Amino acid sequence: MTQEAFSLFAKTPAEITSALGLEKAFQGRQVYRWLTKGAVSFSSMTDLPAVLREKLCAEHPSLFSSSVVTSQTDDDGSAKLTLRLYDGNVVECVLLTDREGELTACLSSQAGCAMGCRFCRTGTLKLKRNLEAFEIIEQFMHLQAVAPGKIGHVVFMGMGEPLANIDNVIRAISFLHDPEGLNLSHRRITVSTCGLVPGINALAARKVPVKLAVSLVTADDGKRSALMPVNRAYPLSTLREALVRFQKVSGRRFTFEYCMIRGQNIDEKDADKLSRFCRGLEVIVNLIPFNPCPELPFETPTDQEIRRFTDALRQRNVEYTIRISRGRSIKGACGQLAGKLEENV
Ligand code: SF4
Repeated sequence: MTQEAFSLFAKTPAEITSALGLEKAFQGRQVYRWLTKGAVSFSSMTDLPAVLREKLCAEHPSLFSSSVVTSQTDDDGSAKLTLRLYDGNVVECVLLTDREGELTACLSSQAGCAMGCRFCRTGTLKLKRNLEAFEIIEQFMHLQAVAPGKIGHVVFMGMGEPLANIDNVIRAISFLHDPEGLNLSHRRITVSTCGLVPGINALAARKVPVKLAVSLVTADDGKRSALMPVNRAYPLSTLREALVRFQKVSGRRFTFEYCMIRGQNIDEKDADKLSRFCRGLEVIVNLIPFNPCPELPFETPTDQEIRRFTDALRQRNVEYTIRISRGRSIKGACGQLAGKLEENV
């Protein structure tokens, strides 16, 4: 059943003052600070007058517009939450823990995705809608509530293409970044794109100095167009020009996400093309073995095939890392999110 959305997340203190009809501006700032500390109800905001707290609790029993419907944890410490949004749509978000115990929130920016990348489970869904900024921040807050410590990194690598919902993503980034609030530095925030060139240009124009990750998958135009429909609109040469422009503005090295798919993109010629594409760019290639899903017609390469490919990259001086997929058993790994409630409950 559809209900009206109420959420104060991603709002500024002034907007909170106005949304709650508060008489004093400093009360909006107090509520804002409580929200960024993880308060789940007005009753815990103890520096507000008791009468005001009671009134706000009666008017808004929950601070969230979304609710957690399932929570799954993996042996490697990852956790995946399935959230039901106020209008019944479902999205997923993931908490990742690395070997040093650093915590990263992987957030969704859309319910479904229109991009249709063939190696991605979310790509099998159609786009339902863009998420509002508050729905993005609520994912972070829900994950923080189950995290064993403070979440120190955010990656927009969940469901959806973040740069197709750039206004809400930038608004959410401002909330995460605000030194008065969560105070997450821009270099701890990564936006991942499948190569949506107008979005990369817009990010550069708006001078949001986050890290950029581009899901490259192959540096061969024909193969890329077959695997990623976005390449038909913005082929590799156009993508490269946009990346050079972005790099001038951001001054940061970016990442190529390279999903290694058996028999598709990991032979010697692929290594040659990738090395040529990387030349002159400040970039590191993040190799990710394909995560298998029954809906997708691809396979994970063997260890030997991966080794052959990494040897070929090393011989060509391509700088790379291999991402160990975390959260695979709970389908929280890269490309595995699908937001299908029926299989989780
Ligand atoms: S890889 Fe990203 S852009 Fe491509 S279909 Fe999946 S969620 Fe959408």
